[in-house]
Amino acid sequence: MTMIHLKSLTNDKIAVSTEAADALRQSLRGPVCLAGDQGYEEARSLWNAMIDRRPAMIVRAMGAADVIRTVRFAAEQNALLAVRGGGHNIAGNAVCDGGLMLDLSLMKSVQVDPSAKRVRVEPGATLADLDKETAAFGYVVPTGVNSTTGVAGLTLGGGFGWTTRRFGMTIDSLLAADLVTADGKLLRVNGNENSNLFWAIRGGGGNFGVVTSFFFRMHAMEPTVLAGLLVHPFDHAPDLLRRYRDMVADLPDELTAWVVMRKAPPLPVLPAEWHGREVMIFALCWCGEMAAGERAVMELRRLGRPIADLIGPQPLTAWQSAFDPLLTPGARNYWKSHDFLELSDGAIDAMLAAIRVLPTDESEIFIAHLGGAMGRVPPEATAYALRKPHFVMNVHTRWRSAADDERCIGWARNLFRATAAHAAGSVYVNFMPDDEPDRVSAAYGPSYARLSEIKHHYDPRNLFRLNQNIAPAVHEERAAG
Ligand code: FAD
Repeated sequence: MTMIHLKSLTNDKIAVSTEAADALRQSLRGPVCLAGDQGYEEARSLWNAMIDRRPAMIVRAMGAADVIRTVRFAAEQNALLAVRGGGHNIAGNAVCDGGLMLDLSLMKSVQVDPSAKRVRVEPGATLADLDKETAAFGYVVPTGVNSTTGVAGLTLGGGFGWTTRRFGMTIDSLLAADLVTADGKLLRVNGNENSNLFWAIRGGGGNFGVVTSFFFRMHAMEPTVLAGLLVHPFDHAPDLLRRYRDMVADLPDELTAWVVMRKAPPLPVLPAEWHGREVMIFALCWCGEMAAGERAVMELRRLGRPIADLIGPQPLTAWQSAFDPLLTPGARNYWKSHDFLELSDGAIDAMLAAIRVLPTDESEIFIAHLGGAMGRVPPEATAYALRKPHFVMNVHTRWRSAADDERCIGWARNLFRATAAHAAGSVYVNFMPDDEPDRVSAAYGPSYARLSEIKHHYDPRNLFRLNQNIAPAVHEERAAG
């Protein structure tokens, strides 16, 4: 191997000796890729095409031992370290310019233990990998709504999707994890062992170490859900959104109803005259007994007069990937998000106005409603603290050409500002772009101080800094004597 220069934690260049680099490479099961090597482009490419960074060196780990060796190497060299799971995070912290990238995407094994109702998941697995394995045994772990998302990043930030009202957030099903800390030790973290760390990784992101295995409780569930879309003319949205916000508070745990506002994609299931026009969509999922589901969705189905009613029974795994065609990798993306305890008239009006001036046909406003089982977990039980039922607005701006960056990002920021006065002040850490360092402490909210203490204990040098970063608590040295 030739001499490698790595960016350091203090932004200097470190010359890594050929011996040190060769020793690392020989100790690993997985490949080490430099620019031009096979696998380099694949590993550094993320879901968000806005992110185009070139690490000096990429380790494509094949197991926990590779992770331990890479973390020790980074710590010894003082190298800037980026950690990649599924590569979906909007902020793009999974890759860095000039530093060392630890790519976990080859570690994809998912092992179901049906007798223990547990599943062990490696950190490169996607939601589809997990769903397909658990569904085969009649179980589910609650995750998110786009099947190509990584289990790792989603879990570490909290994780919510179609089965969260019934079974809680992804972290609420996490029983344990194996974590490599900044000193290169592999720790089992759970309710009894290293419980501070176990608390921290359930919402505190990748700040505390590299997870090499997640252990989840699985929930028995009918493999078929009653799910789909109710597509409405956008002119009816002012009334429908107000009726929606009042209805969702009383929905049964099995029923989740979210909103998407955008231009209708040219899908054959939608009348051609609506293609390319603004629509308001209710996306519904009932995960429970089918006859009860038909009754439960009736009220939402009777709301207004939809252009298309696309609700029907389907396998959960199919519904989990229903949005994938709209969310393929390779587009430029920018997100802005607020939590709302109430969906006020002012917030609704600002969103409606923004839809009238959508910057591209692929951009949308997405409103999730969280509650049910996730709301019955005490806020101090996990680092993710916002357990009150609430709405999450995520502004998804999506476009193809760099020439449109300013216009598209500007649209999202304007809407973010217009809705800020109505928002709760917190934000889901997994929806934050890379330009919001001023929001990080609000994102972790009441958990921030404890997270910062745990960070100080396990990662005082902040080796794991490429994330929505928690600063290690500062402790003044006590004067001797
Ligand atoms: P990566 O970009 O690989 O990782 C994100 C960060 O997590 C890394 O920078 C690193 O800091 C850390 N990290 C990753 N792996 C590890 C590890 N093994 N150990 C330690 N740290 C690690 N979220 C939801 O909750 N619900 C949804 O329905 C949902 N839908 C989404 C749809 C789309 C199209 C996209 C792009 C995202 C969606 N998200 C959703 C957000 C998602 O949870 C985050 O983007 C998440 O960070 C993705 O995880 P990843 O492993 O794919 O990302």
